[in-house]
Amino acid sequence: MKLYNTMTRRVEPFRTHIPGKVAMYTCGPTVYHFAHIGNLRSYICEDILEKTLRYLGYDVKRVMNITDVGHLSSDADTGEDKMLAGAKREHKTVMEIADFYTKAFFSDMEKLNIKKPDVVEPATNCIPEFIHMIEVLLEKGYAYKAGENVYFDTSKLDNYYALGNQNEDELMVGVRDDVEEDTNKRNRNDFVLWFTKSKFEDQALKWDSPFGVGYPGWHIECSCIGLKHLGEYMDIHCGGVDNIFPHHTNEIAQSEAYLGHKWCNYWFHVHHLNDREGKMSKSKGNILTVSVLEEKGYDPLVYRFFCLQSHYRKPLEFSFDALDNASSAFSKLLKRTIAVAKEAEGKEGIDQEVFDEYKARFKEALGNDTNTSMALTVLYDVLKADTDAATKKALIGSFDEVLSLDLFRERAEKETAEEDSGLVSWIEEQIEKRKAAKKEKNFAEADRIRAELLEKGIVLKDTREGTTWERA
Ligand code: AMP
Ligand code: ZN
Repeated sequence: MKLYNTMTRRVEPFRTHIPGKVAMYTCGPTVYHFAHIGNLRSYICEDILEKTLRYLGYDVKRVMNITDVGHLSSDADTGEDKMLAGAKREHKTVMEIADFYTKAFFSDMEKLNIKKPDVVEPATNCIPEFIHMIEVLLEKGYAYKAGENVYFDTSKLDNYYALGNQNEDELMVGVRDDVEEDTNKRNRNDFVLWFTKSKFEDQALKWDSPFGVGYPGWHIECSCIGLKHLGEYMDIHCGGVDNIFPHHTNEIAQSEAYLGHKWCNYWFHVHHLNDREGKMSKSKGNILTVSVLEEKGYDPLVYRFFCLQSHYRKPLEFSFDALDNASSAFSKLLKRTIAVAKEAEGKEGIDQEVFDEYKARFKEALGNDTNTSMALTVLYDVLKADTDAATKKALIGSFDEVLSLDLFRERAEKETAEEDSGLVSWIEEQIEKRKAAKKEKNFAEADRIRAELLEKGIVLKDTREGTTWERA
């Protein structure tokens, strides 16, 4: 296995602390809103990484936190707590919001065939662990109290920018929303470990602590939850690229100051899903969710397929045209895989040599920094291969353990059948009828046809070249 490591900025051979075992950590969602499909791109790519490791024979333990406290509207510890803002928006309590959006998150994950991590831990479960780590950091001189908050002192480290020494202004791009200076800080990048005072006094959840009644900062939760479930050494830590700074940089700072040794060896970062306005982000509002895709008639797995067509280290441009292309390629793929399954029915025995050859190629593609588009190419090569259906079926089934596209699922078959059954030709017929109605100046009929199509989620567009259609 070779992996790109943000820490060294190179593709490196993957070696674990304990041979054969992987301690893997994933930054979970901040549950104040639905996850958008950008967030879910990160979780799809991390799911591929986890499943690849398992496919290659590793014993993986994967841990994920749920951020239900402490993530302020700017990653640089200023602004209002996102959870509180969510609760106010919906006239609910913070815990009601957390519960609702955590469930919604896992329901989206399930629809996208993303495996639930082995351990999922909400930050509010671990307050004693946070307090303990902060106490140790204070004792060791890595933290200080100022303005009734506790801060981490970044000047105490030889190399605070462990994840790359880009200049600070560049790094601040990762800091979302309003960036205000906190005058309690000794150094610009010091960060809050424990708040008792912030500009927003109405924080809903507070806990008693040796530093006063208050609540933890965001970064401390991932360090503590990681240590709690994976021990002192972590093999891989994952997140979106916006997590590199300050979140992951701060996690490394406090974990290594606490432990006194190197903490995590590989940092896996997924590039962003962008739309026309740039990075898709919850705080911008108007976000695209899995439910929105479903309402528009897309199978959520079309989105998974769309993500797998590109490499996780490249930004991915989202548009409905691009998703439509993925959708039609996915339908065609399913027709072929389902046909193979039918042909293989009742046939036993496979060509082991062919099986081993293609499986090795598939492993090589994924083992090469999870090259999913290459892995899909191997799948298409299997479909074209000069071998029997039973061998092909066995290979497709095996690949689907990682791809998780439900390549044999009946539901997919129904959808392709539906398409065959003439939805497309019916739409085209209606377009012709509308054209004829317009020619006869029967605009009422033309409008009726447009409305009928719209009701079925089909939007017509009149262009100079004629009328085209798309899903609403
Ligand atoms: P959040 O819920 O904001 O804490 O983010 C959850 C995960 O989604 C984090 O790993 C982020 O880095 C990641 N993320 C946020 N926005 C995007 C995006 N547009 N594309 C891909 N990943 C993202
Ligand atoms: Zn995190």
